[in-house]
Amino acid sequence: MSQHDSFLNQVDRMYAKAASFTDHAPGLLSQIKICNSVYHMEFPLVKDDGSIEVIKAWRVEHSQHKLPVKGGIRYAPSVNQDEVMALATLMTYKCAIVDVPFGGAKGGIQINRKDFSESEIERITRRYTYELIRKNFIGPGIDVPAPDYGTGPKEMSWILDTYTTLTNNPLDALACVTGKPVGQGGVRGRTEATGRGTFFGIREACSVAEDMKKLGLEPGLEGKTTVLQGLGNVGYHAGLFMQEGGAIIIAIAEYEGAIHNEAGLDVDAVFQHRRETGSILGFPGATDIQNSADALELPCDILIPAALESQITMGNVDRIQAKIIGEAANGPITADADAVLLERGVLILPDVYLNAGGVTVSYFEWLRNLSHVRFGRMSKRFEQRSNARIIKAISDVSGIVIPPEQLAEVAAGADEVDLVNSGLEETMISAYQEIRSIAREHDTDLRTAAFITAINKVAVAYKEMGIFP
Ligand code: NAD
Repeated sequence: MSQHDSFLNQVDRMYAKAASFTDHAPGLLSQIKICNSVYHMEFPLVKDDGSIEVIKAWRVEHSQHKLPVKGGIRYAPSVNQDEVMALATLMTYKCAIVDVPFGGAKGGIQINRKDFSESEIERITRRYTYELIRKNFIGPGIDVPAPDYGTGPKEMSWILDTYTTLTNNPLDALACVTGKPVGQGGVRGRTEATGRGTFFGIREACSVAEDMKKLGLEPGLEGKTTVLQGLGNVGYHAGLFMQEGGAIIIAIAEYEGAIHNEAGLDVDAVFQHRRETGSILGFPGATDIQNSADALELPCDILIPAALESQITMGNVDRIQAKIIGEAANGPITADADAVLLERGVLILPDVYLNAGGVTVSYFEWLRNLSHVRFGRMSKRFEQRSNARIIKAISDVSGIVIPPEQLAEVAAGADEVDLVNSGLEETMISAYQEIRSIAREHDTDLRTAAFITAINKVAVAYKEMGIFP
């Protein structure tokens, strides 16, 4: 098979490899693999100048073994049915790996945002939502979209508003989409969740001394040289948390080029520089690399592709020097290139696991919307008082008096963001340990292990449910 294999074929090849480690019947394995529903729509947009443009869009529900199904919506010129099906498939496995009780889905609109005004993007988003409503492809218990490449909280707000306007069940309408702004029912911590989850996953992998020794590295993130591709939602936050965790970000690649500084780049300063000048190039103290993709080939401990799929292919895999690759983006390594890297002993933290922080916190947002209460609202003050009582009891016995200002900090109860981040950390750590132990049991790589875990979990659900009629 060549590197031009479609994205869906590549995902299916990974699936086939993992399935060979299981003893499920071939029929059940096909049932798990196929996409349940594929909805392709084309609708007209009246542009600001009065002309009409036809827009192509998709929503794919890969597996309805658990409802609702869940997955982001992507706005990019490259969006096509194969890609949306591949991404929906990955979502099913991703949810299973991190024990989020949803099936997988994905949406995509084939547009280049730069070609449309804000009001045109809003009309496209609202019409797309309307088409989903008409075909029963959206709803709190049916299918719950979220942001992905090219979309964010603003688009999620328009989806919510359109859905709320048209629904007959306004009580739970807030839960029809996640990744919303906090004022519209969003949960604190969602925006940075995928990047934070990426950081938790890489930190966990780097904490295993035995695995680091095989790579000739010390355990821990401290001082590990890191190259980052993509300074969007996922890349920016992953970079920030990696830097906070002690890693040195030596290069950042964006589509206009890359910048390099062995002494380390400050991610936030680079982000501000790009915001002010429109480019990461020309960042003080850094060397410009005109061909952005060259940055992927720099010697480093950790490479984090956080832009788009198929960035590491048979065309550049021989020049990739990273010892660890953290797939923050979906599908950044083609299946052939993946095999070459594994042969070379590179530790690959697969997308189906590593970028699952987004869907994990989307799950928390959905729960918050259905319960109509902010996490921590009922417990924060109670916890604070309980903690204060325990501290006082210890003070009484020990005679050690804690100053009141310190007491307030030590005894503080958890806020919503603390609970969300704690749930995310727990999820990423336990899922890593689970897939690592399966990888060891079958003497295989982490991606195959992650797929094995997912297949087994979905298989149990299908077996228990039986088949209708
Ligand atoms: P985004 O649109 O916020 O950012 C993507 C960034 O990549 C942009 O800054 C863009 O300019 C840059 N980019 C595009 N092509 C590039 C290239 N060739 N080289 C370098 N940079 C390039 O998107 P995002 O939400 O950060 O998503 C990035 C990836 O993460 C996608 O693969 C997406 O599917 C995946 N992902 C996102 C989420 C989420 O919560 N947003 C969750 C899971 C997975």
